[in-house]
Amino acid sequence: VFQLSVPLNFLGSVYRELRQSLIDMETLFNLQKVNVNVQEAPNAQPLVLKGGHIKFENVTFGYHPDRPILKNVSFEIPAGKKTAIVGPSGCGKSTILRLLFRFYDTTSGRILIDNQDIRTISISSLRHAIGVVPQDTPLFNNTISHNIRYGRIDATQEEVEAVARRAKIHEIIAGMPKGYETMVGERGMMISGGEKQRLAIARVVLKDPELLFFDEATSALDTHTEQALLSNISSILKEKQRTSVFVAHRLRTIFDADQIIVLKDGQLAEEPGTHEQLVNRDGVYATLWAAQETMPEKVDEEEGDVVEE
Ligand code: ATP
Repeated sequence: VFQLSVPLNFLGSVYRELRQSLIDMETLFNLQKVNVNVQEAPNAQPLVLKGGHIKFENVTFGYHPDRPILKNVSFEIPAGKKTAIVGPSGCGKSTILRLLFRFYDTTSGRILIDNQDIRTISISSLRHAIGVVPQDTPLFNNTISHNIRYGRIDATQEEVEAVARRAKIHEIIAGMPKGYETMVGERGMMISGGEKQRLAIARVVLKDPELLFFDEATSALDTHTEQALLSNISSILKEKQRTSVFVAHRLRTIFDADQIIVLKDGQLAEEPGTHEQLVNRDGVYATLWAAQETMPEKVDEEEGDVVEE
């Protein structure tokens, strides 16, 4: 009886672990409202990365067939550089990231990564190559350490702390009574929107993928912390020559991008360019920039870390 109970106990804990991770994945997909019905090609190949160059070729897409969100859009995202996507709310910026991660397939046109149509690539290898910091990052009912380590489960505690420092969250964690062992999530500690975003950034830096997408990833931070964090992220991306895409509302957070893509009504509003090129061109971007520059600084209560209920 004794001999039998050991393996059963062991199996029980494996089962619980497995169940927990399944719940976690479900939560993740629910929270990101994704369609998990994208089909993998029968002969799908692993993605072969050669720097991480991305190309949208005449892409049309709508969540509903009668309402296209992207209309015959073509652009390139250069390998190893920082690209920003800007444009009015609802114009399809986040949709571009969802298509790249293959939460949905295009209605027509192709998306290529290093010249490979993403529909021919195995979904797991595609998602392995990509790190996303979404607008609202799901946290798991687990410790802070676990939540960061989700980016790469074999990371050491030193590595976890190193990325937390770069994500400007180490001091806050270290100041908590249980430090990295503090429980967060539904049954854990209340955590502010800005802290959540920093944990998400730490997680993706730890994962260290070839392609990184940031979707309004620092919007809950105060200007000072945001600037410091963005400069840390920029130096990591440059150091490692990663391809990155930043979706942003506030143009001040992306004006240093190597290329800015301006979307409007599901199409490119103008040729992509750097901040300087676009401002000098006096087009849509220049108008957006002028409007944001003359906007008063946001009031503190809007700008500060928002504690989630
Ligand atoms: P924001 O700047 O406000 O985040 P965005 O430019 O990122 O906006 P998207 O999130 O890409 O815009 O959404 C583009 C359009 O698609 C919007 O009109 C939105 O309502 C719609 N949309 C987004 N997700 C879905 C979905 N899952 N089902 C149906 N429509 C959707």
